[in-house]
Amino acid sequence: MKKISVLCSILVFLLISSLIPAQTPPGKFLGHEVGADRKLADYNQIQAYFQKLDQESGKIKVLTIGKTTLNKPMIMAVITSEENMANLDTYRNISKQLRDARGLTDEQAKQLSRQGKAIVLITCGVHAAEIAASQMSMEFAYKMVTGDTPFNADKVLNDVIVLLAPTINPDGEQMVTEWYRKYVGTPYEGGRMPWLYHHYAGHDNNRDWFMFNLAETKAVTKVLYHDWIPQVHIDEHQMGSTEARLFLPPFMDPPVPTIHPLVWRGIALCGTNMAYDLQQQGCKGVVYGRNFTGWWIGACDDTSWLHNSIGLLSEMASVKTATPIYIDPTEIPNSSIEKRIQFPDPWPGGWWRLRNLVDYELILSLSLVKTAYLHKEDFLYNFYKMCKESIEKRPEGQPYAFIIPKEQHDYAIALKMLDILMFGGIEIHQAKEDFVADGKLYPAGSFVVLLSQPYRPYAQALLERQKYPDLRESPSQDPTPPYDNAGWTLPLQMGVACDPIEKPFKTTLEKLEQVPYPGITPPKENENASYIILDSRKNASYAVVFPLMQEKAEVYRSKDCIKTDDFHACAGSFIIKNTPPVQKKLPDLLKKWYLTAYELNNADNIAKTPLTRYRFGLYQSWSANMDEGWTRYVFDETGIPYTTLHNQDIKGTKQKKADLRKSFDVIVFADESPEEIKSGKPDPKSHWASRFTEMPPPYQGGIEKEGVEALKNFVADGGILVCMNNAGRLVLKEFKQIPASNILEKVERSKFFCPTSLLKVNVDNKSPIGYGMPQEAAVMFSRSPAFSTSVPSGEWDRQVVASYPKENILMSGWLLGENIIARKPALVDIKYKKGHIILIGFRCQHRAQTHGTYKFLYNALLYPGSD
Ligand SMILES: [Zn+2]
Repeated sequence: MKKISVLCSILVFLLISSLIPAQTPPGKFLGHEVGADRKLADYNQIQAYFQKLDQESGKIKVLTIGKTTLNKPMIMAVITSEENMANLDTYRNISKQLRDARGLTDEQAKQLSRQGKAIVLITCGVHAAEIAASQMSMEFAYKMVTGDTPFNADKVLNDVIVLLAPTINPDGEQMVTEWYRKYVGTPYEGGRMPWLYHHYAGHDNNRDWFMFNLAETKAVTKVLYHDWIPQVHIDEHQMGSTEARLFLPPFMDPPVPTIHPLVWRGIALCGTNMAYDLQQQGCKGVVYGRNFTGWWIGACDDTSWLHNSIGLLSEMASVKTATPIYIDPTEIPNSSIEKRIQFPDPWPGGWWRLRNLVDYELILSLSLVKTAYLHKEDFLYNFYKMCKESIEKRPEGQPYAFIIPKEQHDYAIALKMLDILMFGGIEIHQAKEDFVADGKLYPAGSFVVLLSQPYRPYAQALLERQKYPDLRESPSQDPTPPYDNAGWTLPLQMGVACDPIEKPFKTTLEKLEQVPYPGITPPKENENASYIILDSRKNASYAVVFPLMQEKAEVYRSKDCIKTDDFHACAGSFIIKNTPPVQKKLPDLLKKWYLTAYELNNADNIAKTPLTRYRFGLYQSWSANMDEGWTRYVFDETGIPYTTLHNQDIKGTKQKKADLRKSFDVIVFADESPEEIKSGKPDPKSHWASRFTEMPPPYQGGIEKEGVEALKNFVADGGILVCMNNAGRLVLKEFKQIPASNILEKVERSKFFCPTSLLKVNVDNKSPIGYGMPQEAAVMFSRSPAFSTSVPSGEWDRQVVASYPKENILMSGWLLGENIIARKPALVDIKYKKGHIILIGFRCQHRAQTHGTYKFLYNALLYPGSD
């Protein structure tokens, strides 16, 4: 039988190949087999291969879906039958019609589901170091267009449209391949890079999927919720090397509660089909239901769940980039050796190569396409059904709407939040009249998010406060942490007022097509006032001041509120001398940031301090620190000029000690452990320590004790040292007699645990670091310290800027052991000799999401006259 079928295949192949031009296999194109040991295709090659296949086959079309952060084109291949290819718009529209289910009858939806095609999106390489999937993508595409598949590809492609993004981080793909090639054959072969594989975000590029800060996230989100609306989406990753060979969904507990149960069932269906096909082909070590929870909203695949789509994740066991590894059986942990229902066929150990990863990923990707084919009508119809229910059924006890009142601490940030929500597919209305909801009066112009909408689960999960369940394997065990954040509530992160509304209400609402940013009328040039006032409450004021200071503008900060008949600006507001260079630059800046400036003719009676500082240094270790990347992102977005400082710049050389004060006024350390900063190695007690591998020589070590000394001198000489989150622990450890300590330094997880959640702080907004902040704010606590201060002696002093309240500290997420941090400082401004150390004990610019606490960082950069 087998021989005959092989013979048939050969005949069919010969027949087909005589009719159509041959397609080039990737191995021939690259000059090596896909997944061969120590061989990688870089992004330029991948892109060129897909273009070639596009020229050689009518079943594949390569689209450019955007530009990367470093300006590379991002490609996505559409793979389907030639007939479908001619009608792609029709099928995209069917997806859209099924989503916007209002007005469709079930019968019409059934008809559309019959007529439509299942759209499956496969995204590879978001984490560029997890490189197998990008390599696999070429072979997958080749197999699909040539019909070298375990199913009848013609039939399947008639019902399925596959969207294949070979990598959604092309910049990283290029960096990783170049780094790998450089060190092949050296002791550093297959090791990590000393910098981030996404220019700003590194691994956190997969935490950006509701915020859309990054160009790459934007491009794929456009595919997901605007242009194609796939019903099935898989994002292919890699994990550690010694446990299971492959993780596939279903995920583990807990789930985000707003997600439709049919989504989880669809995920289980596709996931177990993939596992079945892998098992059938003898692939060992496939596990499900472990490690990866259903509680997260910021990753590429998870965002699909909240949009009523089947979102899947695959996680292959890694090799060292393209270098094979040998795993001794004794190195496999017990949990990955014992047979379990979720893990019936453990992998026994041995050699593991890039080609193994490619093989597994080929099987699972093809399996997913097959499942989409088998369930095409169901998947389309159920997508409609979930969207329809999202519109029509309000689950018991769930809010009716969220209102974003017109009155906001920082209105432009509220508008930015609306923009983000709309890009994620959320419908927003604006009230045309004053109205009452849940007994509160809202003025006309307030914004309303009615939860009756196709993406209800997403809208609700972003706007409500998370209550993470206290899960433990047994009551005596430590709490089970979520995969990433426990809480992420967007309005809290951005400092935007947003009220959940229980009872339905009536008012005239207008659906927004776009966010109504206000038109800004800058001060007229010929009737200039002597001073321009920018309110410290607006983040935009800072984004205007930084560039103005580069123009040598004369800028002051007010010590108190400024009240006139025309305006009211808070303590710390900017008073800018209205000189010709300011007049030239100001109008464009105000328009860019939708900021209103006030005018004042006489500032003599206002208590104020001049701003003179503007030379910023930002420390960058060789540990590829993501928080440094996000800080850089915020600096670039805000127009803050800075110099990147490496270990060498801080510690100086034997011949020449570093004099940091000579070149800098403010030095910023992003969140990083003290051990990492000082020695370049992780804390020996942390779980990262066992995975540490030494970097090539130029990237070894940290700032060392010489660097610590240089920082002490910098502060003593009047410099401002800003330490965010764990970086502050370096100062607490190394600066003797500092009147502060970290009370969480040795607290066990069973007593205190707060996995990335939003906590409440009280802010002293009359202090220079608290300027412009509301008196109460939400801060992102993420492996953070909490401080205790003491009465200082000698040349030290301290001012507590923000502290946790007595009770009700948790705002969103999970907090165990509230009493331990109650009434403790979260942000301290410490004075040492002529300078300051600002300890910001939380993530004030966390993943460029927490706009509500950016001002703490801005204020530290614009500390008024401390010399
Ligand atoms: Zn990954």
